[in-house]
Amino acid sequence: MVFSEDTMGDFLEKEVEKHPDREFIIYPDRNLRFTYQEFNERVDLLAKGLLAIGIGKGDHVGIWAKNVPDWLTFMFATSKIGAVLVTINTAYKSHELAYLMKQSDMKALAIIDGFRDINYIETVYQLVGELKTHSRGNLKSKEFPHLKSVIYIGPEKHRGMYNTRELMLLGKHTSSELLDQIKNSLSNQEVINMQYTSGTTGFPKGVMLTHRNILNNGYYIGQRQHFTSQDKLCLPVPLFHCFGIVLGVLAILTHGGTLVMIELFDPLMVLAAIEKERCTAVYGVPTMFIAEFTHPMFDLFNLSSLRTGIMAGSTCPIEAMKRVMEEMHMKEVTIAYGLTEASPVFTQTSVDDPLEKKVNTVGTKMPHIEVKIVDPETGETLGANEPGEICCRGYNVMKGYYKMPQMTEETIDSQGWLHSGDLAVMDEEGYYSIVGRIKDMIIRGGENIYPREIEEFLYTMDGVKDVQVVGIPDEKYGELVGAFIIPEEDYDLEEADVRDYAIPRIARYKVPKHVFMVDEFPLTASGKVQKFKLRELALELLKQKGEKEEKLY
Ligand code: AMP
Repeated sequence: MVFSEDTMGDFLEKEVEKHPDREFIIYPDRNLRFTYQEFNERVDLLAKGLLAIGIGKGDHVGIWAKNVPDWLTFMFATSKIGAVLVTINTAYKSHELAYLMKQSDMKALAIIDGFRDINYIETVYQLVGELKTHSRGNLKSKEFPHLKSVIYIGPEKHRGMYNTRELMLLGKHTSSELLDQIKNSLSNQEVINMQYTSGTTGFPKGVMLTHRNILNNGYYIGQRQHFTSQDKLCLPVPLFHCFGIVLGVLAILTHGGTLVMIELFDPLMVLAAIEKERCTAVYGVPTMFIAEFTHPMFDLFNLSSLRTGIMAGSTCPIEAMKRVMEEMHMKEVTIAYGLTEASPVFTQTSVDDPLEKKVNTVGTKMPHIEVKIVDPETGETLGANEPGEICCRGYNVMKGYYKMPQMTEETIDSQGWLHSGDLAVMDEEGYYSIVGRIKDMIIRGGENIYPREIEEFLYTMDGVKDVQVVGIPDEKYGELVGAFIIPEEDYDLEEADVRDYAIPRIARYKVPKHVFMVDEFPLTASGKVQKFKLRELALELLKQKGEKEEKLY
């Protein structure tokens, strides 16, 4: 493969023809194994099942699930019928789900039982009460006028919902010609994937990605790791994010390799899966790798089959990279950098790079993509060793944000350059390093959190007069969420009240870890809040708190 102009469905089918019996997807914890052909057959059944319940080209299908086996069946089935898979963060709660279902004009939603303390079935019944009274497929919801069907991923029955077994059965009785007709009408420049990223606006935006965007990005990501059909990738990162589907699934598919799936990240499961399946690669955000090599049972596992992989998502600490190379045998580990809007990767290190570049940089630009660094104030292009905003242009740039043309224009300029909001510097040899961020964003263990979104949420709490959210440096997670609150006069607001308010309403990872009550915020002369001072204050206050606790025990 060089540069593919195939749709995802066509690409998968060509791989099936080449090596039908090779294993494509393995769930080692339950010894569930699909060859390329078996997987494709299941995809076709589901695609036809979706057609049978009235889902077709251009329709939006949400998926709210951990990395369960049929997640990928949904991904390829929707892409074969030209539907758009809207991927939903598993940690979301009802407030976030409702926004996303509405904003995306979702026509069908596929769910599992739940995740941690979130019961997905109850959440959906609460939001869409009509499910219990309307006949299946004929849902008419006041709140969600586009929603027609809810699908339960699994064999159990839930009132008003289809389940995957029923869909597959319907698929068996649906003509393959209809599916072929639709497949032949698709273009690889059409949108098939939509992921929500928050932003400085406080409202999550749906990033529209096409077959061409993600299939090609996946291929070049695999190339940097020298993937071949012999590679077996252990994938513990979530599929609702590009890290899972593009860096993971599509990098493997485009090289005819094998995926070893982890349903939900757990360091022991990852270590056991690598040993059991003799994986050659493993991915993760830095926090995941750290949890693996610092695990008390780490020494029990034989990881000698490992060769390469990717660390990405946030700044990769040099020490963590070195330990991954030494202790996990991943001499050829790479670092990738990018963002969802760029499909996502546009710089990556390569297995051939010298050690110093491998641990200190995010690599060089990817093929067929232009990268430049600009002065954030003037927009002027900068040279080597001059820090500025890193931008990219090429096949990988998203189609735009769904129904947000103005936001799209603010992110992709009139010349087609995507502005990342990250600060980077390029050395004389063309290697980039990420040195900071212009956008106000916190990265906690690989999860992006936009302070504005949490500030807006905390304003809805009684007793909160003003609030500022900042990232506090942390060894384990990289950053933690800290909230500074000015309470209303006469309100006796405490840290625990704020957390009790937030926990049932927003994703757990967004809930402030530390809350500080203050009388005022440090301001600039022009009256802007100085967030960096709040960060320093947070560290100081936490240090004082730590010292106090030390004295107590
Ligand atoms: P997302 O859209 O969720 O993929 O998040 C993209 C953001 O994550 C980027 O804009 C960066 O701020 C950050 N990021 C991703 N990869 C790296 C990396 N290798 N080093 C530093 N920051 C990264």
